[in-house]
Amino acid sequence: MEADEGAQMHPAKAPSCKSQEMLHARLQADVRVYMKAVQQLEYSALKVGNDPSFRKALRDVQIARAAFIEARKKLNRHIASHNCG
Ligand SMILES: [Zn+2]
Repeated sequence: MEADEGAQMHPAKAPSCKSQEMLHARLQADVRVYMKAVQQLEYSALKVGNDPSFRKALRDVQIARAAFIEARKKLNRHIASHNCG
């Protein structure tokens, strides 16, 4: 997925990092929201085609997906710049 993964040397690694822990927790929380939204969307799709609850579930999935992708980007950017991965 990440093209440059493992391509760089990181000579000085931070032993423990609060920022990374925070970003990682945020990512996990966002992934949980995303999985729950997908589950709800699948459930709605079985029952209805295009009613308001289906469209809301679809919107929730799109919002949750964007949030978790952003959280993953922030975590990867932080690890790359702070060498704490
Ligand atoms: Zn860090």
